[in-house]
Amino acid sequence: MKDTKLDSKVLDVLQDKIQLIKTEKGAIYLVGPIRLPVNLYGETVVFQWYCWLNCNEVTEDFERIIDKLSSVNLAELQQSSVLVYGDFTYGEDAIMRMHSICHTGDIFGSKRCDCGFQLKRSMKMIVEHGTGALFYLANHEGRGIGLFSKAMAYILQENNYDTVEANHALGFVDDARNYSDAIRVLKALRSKPVTLITNNPKKLDALKNAGLPVSGRKPLWGDVSEYNEKYLQTKINRSGHLKDEGTCPND
Ligand SMILES: [Zn+2]
Repeated sequence: MKDTKLDSKVLDVLQDKIQLIKTEKGAIYLVGPIRLPVNLYGETVVFQWYCWLNCNEVTEDFERIIDKLSSVNLAELQQSSVLVYGDFTYGEDAIMRMHSICHTGDIFGSKRCDCGFQLKRSMKMIVEHGTGALFYLANHEGRGIGLFSKAMAYILQENNYDTVEANHALGFVDDARNYSDAIRVLKALRSKPVTLITNNPKKLDALKNAGLPVSGRKPLWGDVSEYNEKYLQTKINRSGHLKDEGTCPND
C-alpha cells in the first residue's frame, strides 16, 4: 500500500462522477458521464460514456476505491462500459443494445461474424433515433467463453463443427452470458422501459427475465458474406435467431 494521500482536488473532481450501485456480491462503481466524440461513418458524434467496476467493498467513501486502483492490475481484467446518446434518463422512447465484446469482429473487422458491423450500425441507429444506449459487455467474448477459448472454437469450426457444436465440444454451454450487472447499470441510468436492438429473441427473453424493462425489439440486419454465411445460418438453425428478409442475424 502506498502512503501518499490522494490530492483533495483530484478527489473532488472524481467523486461527483462516481455512483455506487449495490449488488448481492458487493458493489458496482459507475463512473461518468464523460464526453466522448466518436467517428461514426466519417461523422463526429458526441456520446456520453460511462464505465463500471465490480468490487467486493461497498463504500461511499470513494477515496478508498480510488486509492486501490494503482495496486490492482485492472488492465489484466476487462471492464465493461456504456455509450449514452440523447436524454437517456428522461426521454420517453429510448433504444438500446447489449453488445457482446468481439475482439476479432469489433477490433480487427473480422468477416467470420458480423459483430463489428452490428456495433457500428447500432450506434448509428441510436443516434438516428435520438435517444439510446449501447452497452459494451467485456465479459461476453465468444458468448461468454473468453477469447482464448474462442480461438479454439474457431479451429474446430475450421474442421466442420458449427458454432454451437464447437462450444459444446470444449465443455461450454452454448450461451454463458450474464446480463445482471449491465441491467443494474441501466437501471441506475434510466427507469423507463427501452426497446432492445437485437435479432435474438432468446436474448430479449433473458433480459426480460433478468428484470430489464423492455417495451419492444428492433432488429438489426447485417453484413452477410461468404465468410460468415455458415455462422449466421447456425444462429438461425441452432440458436433460435429470427430471420427477416434478405439477411441474417448474429448476437
Ligand atoms: Zn463476433
